[in-house]
Amino acid sequence: MASSEREPEYVLLSGGSVIPCVRPGDMVSESSILIRGDRIVSIGQREAALGSVDPSRVREVDVRGKFCIPGLWDGHIHLGASVPPFEREFHGETADLHMIRCIRKAQDNLRSGITSVRSLGDPYEADLALRDAVESGQLEGPRIFASGDVSWSRRAAGVDEFKREVRRVIQSGADQIKLMSSGGIPWRTKSISYPLHAQSEIEAVVQEAHTWDLPVAVHAMGDETVTMAASAGADTIEHGFTMTSVGVEAMAQAGALYCPNLAVTHAWDPARQDRSADAAWFKRNSGEAAASHHAMFRLAISMGVTIVAGVDNLPPGPSPVGIEKVDGEVGLIVELKLMQQNGMSAGEALLTATRNAAAAARVDDRLGTLEAGKIADVVVLDANPLEDLTALAKVDSVWFQGSPIGLSVGTDREG
Ligand SMILES: [Zn+2]
Repeated sequence: MASSEREPEYVLLSGGSVIPCVRPGDMVSESSILIRGDRIVSIGQREAALGSVDPSRVREVDVRGKFCIPGLWDGHIHLGASVPPFEREFHGETADLHMIRCIRKAQDNLRSGITSVRSLGDPYEADLALRDAVESGQLEGPRIFASGDVSWSRRAAGVDEFKREVRRVIQSGADQIKLMSSGGIPWRTKSISYPLHAQSEIEAVVQEAHTWDLPVAVHAMGDETVTMAASAGADTIEHGFTMTSVGVEAMAQAGALYCPNLAVTHAWDPARQDRSADAAWFKRNSGEAAASHHAMFRLAISMGVTIVAGVDNLPPGPSPVGIEKVDGEVGLIVELKLMQQNGMSAGEALLTATRNAAAAARVDDRLGTLEAGKIADVVVLDANPLEDLTALAKVDSVWFQGSPIGLSVGTDREG
C-alpha cells in the first residue's frame, strides 16, 4: 500500500546573477536556481526555472543584486597542517587534538565558501574519519576527498611494495592516491627537487590506482620527477616549484592537470618578507622554489595545461588553527588573484577552483559547475568575482548539498 509521500521541498535562489563556471567568464543576470533536496533542478528566468512546480512548495530566497557561483574547491589541502615544515611544532600532538584542528580548519573553509577539498595527506588518517563524519551528517564540514596518511610513500621501496601500499590505502577507503615523489622546501638534505621514486615505482602506483578508478596526485618539484609522473600517467602534478620548460612540456604532452600552489612560493619567498627567524637552509630552499615558479605557471597556461587551484600550507598565522591565510586574506583567494596576475582572466581563475578541481577528483559529472542535475553547492556573493576576485571574500551565504550552512561562527584566524 502506498503511503502518502511527504511533500517535496524546493528552494529557489531567485533573481541573482549566475556564474555557472562551465566556460570562463559566462554570467547570466536575473537568473534563478531551483533546488530540490541536494540537487539543482533547473536554472533560468524565474518562471522558466520554476516550470510547473507549485509555488506553495517552494521556499524562495531573494538573491537579487547578488552573484551565485558553484561551491569552491581547495584542490590541495592538509586539514591538520602538520606536514613539513610544521611537523616539529606539532611533535607529540595526540590524534584527538590533531582532529580538533582538522575540524576547525575544515569548517572555516566551508564558511568561506569552500564546499569541497582534495585532502592530500594527513597524519592519523584524520581526513578519512572527518570525511565520513561529514558524509553521515554528524558534523558540518566540506566534502572531503581524502588520501589518508601519505608518509608511506616516502618509505616504500620497490615496485611490489608500492603496489601493496596502494592496495592498503585503497582498502582504508582513500579517494585518491598521493605520492610524495620528490623533496620539498622543508628538506634540509639534498635539493628540493631530489627525486625519491623510480619511474617503475611511480608507474606501478598509477597502474594499480587506475585499476581501482582512483586518481593519482604526485608531489613533484623539478623536471626529473615532473616528467616521470607525467609520463607514468599521473592525474595531477602538485607544485612543480623548480621545474623548467622541460617539465611543463611533459605535463602538456601527457595531459596531466597542474596544481601549482602559487601562494606558497609567494608567501614563503624570502625576498618578499623578512623571514629572519627561518634557518639559512630553509630560506635558501624557499628562494630556490620562488625563483621561476610563477614564470613556469605562465608557460603552462600558454601551453594549455589545465590548472587546479590548491592552497597547501602557508606560513603560520597568529593562530595555530583555522583556514590558511596570507596577510589576513583567505589563501584560496590569494591563489586565484596570483593566477590572474600571471595571465589568467578572473573567469579562468574561477574555473580552477570549481570545474577543474572537480575534474581532478573525477567528480565533474556531479560537482564543480552550476547546471541542472548537479549537486547544489552554491556560494552567494555580495559582489561580482568576474570584476574583482576579492568579491570571493564577500560571502552572503553558502549552500551545501541544497541546504544553507551556519555562518554564525567567525572565520577570522586573527580573532
Ligand atoms: Zn601539500
